[in-house]
Amino acid sequence: MAADLPTFTLYRKRIKNLRLTVKPPHGEVVVSAPRHVPESTIVAFVAGRAAWIAKHQERMASQPQPLQPGPETEALRRRLKLAAPALVAHWADAMGLVPPDIAIRRMTSRWGTCNTERRRITVNLELAQRDVALLEYVIVHELAHLIERGHNTRFYSVMDAHMPDWRLRRRVLNGN
Ligand SMILES: [Zn+2]
Repeated sequence: MAADLPTFTLYRKRIKNLRLTVKPPHGEVVVSAPRHVPESTIVAFVAGRAAWIAKHQERMASQPQPLQPGPETEALRRRLKLAAPALVAHWADAMGLVPPDIAIRRMTSRWGTCNTERRRITVNLELAQRDVALLEYVIVHELAHLIERGHNTRFYSVMDAHMPDWRLRRRVLNGN
């Protein structure tokens, strides 16, 4: 067996072909196999997809991991509630904007959102666990949507003007 064979869970099913899925949020590998396919074939099938599996698992690891409710999460929320408004006020001022409302929420797929009509930005609670430079990047990104709604040339020129190293921060935030 190959040393880098990914760990997987095998289900035997009434199906015609081998199926492999990498399941969120933790990248568990699940293989469904027809009953007659020998284990050696299944192992070779998984081993042949090791690089693809690793790529998907890395991508999942860089997604925000939802925090579970509890006292630790509440402590993070309090910390972010204290830190975020001052940062929003600072960056809104720097960008010539009236500071919008800010909300803090547990989110699974995004670091932040901006409701341009209600002028409210929402940041992911998980940012409380990350470097403040990354929280700032998310705040500036969402504030930039109050100037330009789309992710277009104008949006990126707003980002470049106010946070020249935003690409680097984004890379760190997304884990690559
Ligand atoms: Zn955006």
